[in-house]
Amino acid sequence: MIIHLAPDCTESIQTDILCAVRAVGYTPTAVQTQFGRYIVCIGKQPIDIRVLGSLPGVRDIYYVSDDYQLVSRKWKLERTTIDLGDGVTLGNGAFQIMAGPCSIESEEQVCSIAQHLQRCGVRIMRGGVFKPRSSPYSFRGLGLEGLKIFARICREHGIKVISEVMEAAQIEPMYEYIDIYQVGARNSQNFNLLDELGKVDKPVMIKRGISGTIEELLYSAEYVFSAGNERLLLCERGIRTYERASRNTFDINAIPILQDKSHLPVIVDPSHAIGLREFVAPVALAGVAAGADGIIVEVHETPEEAASDGAQTLNYEESEQLFHQIRALLSVRQSFS
Ligand code: PEP
Ligand code: MN
Repeated sequence: MIIHLAPDCTESIQTDILCAVRAVGYTPTAVQTQFGRYIVCIGKQPIDIRVLGSLPGVRDIYYVSDDYQLVSRKWKLERTTIDLGDGVTLGNGAFQIMAGPCSIESEEQVCSIAQHLQRCGVRIMRGGVFKPRSSPYSFRGLGLEGLKIFARICREHGIKVISEVMEAAQIEPMYEYIDIYQVGARNSQNFNLLDELGKVDKPVMIKRGISGTIEELLYSAEYVFSAGNERLLLCERGIRTYERASRNTFDINAIPILQDKSHLPVIVDPSHAIGLREFVAPVALAGVAAGADGIIVEVHETPEEAASDGAQTLNYEESEQLFHQIRALLSVRQSFS
């Protein structure tokens, strides 16, 4: 159950509401985000919610049958829109392409890719500077210095930046250089990191864990929301199954299911989902056809020479063709709705 507090609800009125919630046998948690104040109430026994709904200081009250609450669509039917500024919005009908290298490698590399994206009308560039690699001997990223270069060049091209944050200590130093924090699959359930990301007011995209369920992804988002940050995106990037013919297995089911269960935008990552460059485009298009709110795809001038994930990275020609196909498919999709 979620109690949405009125903007003028004072601390003492809030205390009265917390007492009233305890009195009906529910455990309340007060949540304050950049957009509102809520009390999440957890309990099992049926109650007449009008008893709480008529208290002073209550704007609205919602019964949510899901175990996660604030990210559930049971209370917020309207889909969330993430506004990144400068006309870049995402979600609730606004589709965005995010593209760029797996890793930021050099100023020349970022310049070249930013120019390519600008030519193609792509407004958000991806690129990791803190890289979670399976082997400690692989390239682990250029760190904060790489992010500074990445941000400067993107800003010169009117492009927004998404980059992975691997630990809580990186949140603050990254803050001024990024527009979206990416939480990688390996950190999807790093609850300390998620809690800390709740304290910032920049959007956070959470990737589904390598073996994570849809419900676990929603709980991860609930961590960030309940810690104070409503600006969230969910990302389906493939899961580990018994299938070895592809890097991961793209769970296309996750797109409509996440959109049914949550009001948050759903992004697909076909690059990590299939891991095979020649098949990234069909998987991307399948994700768009299934209703995704955006796509994040790996692009490099010379994928063969990329410092990481070259085998799943598109070159300029391939990515340009994919962007055209996505836009064509989006207009077909619109005609269905
Ligand atoms: C990435 O985006 O480069 C990445 C490491 O992705 P994931 O966390 O999904 O493996
Ligand atoms: Mn990658």
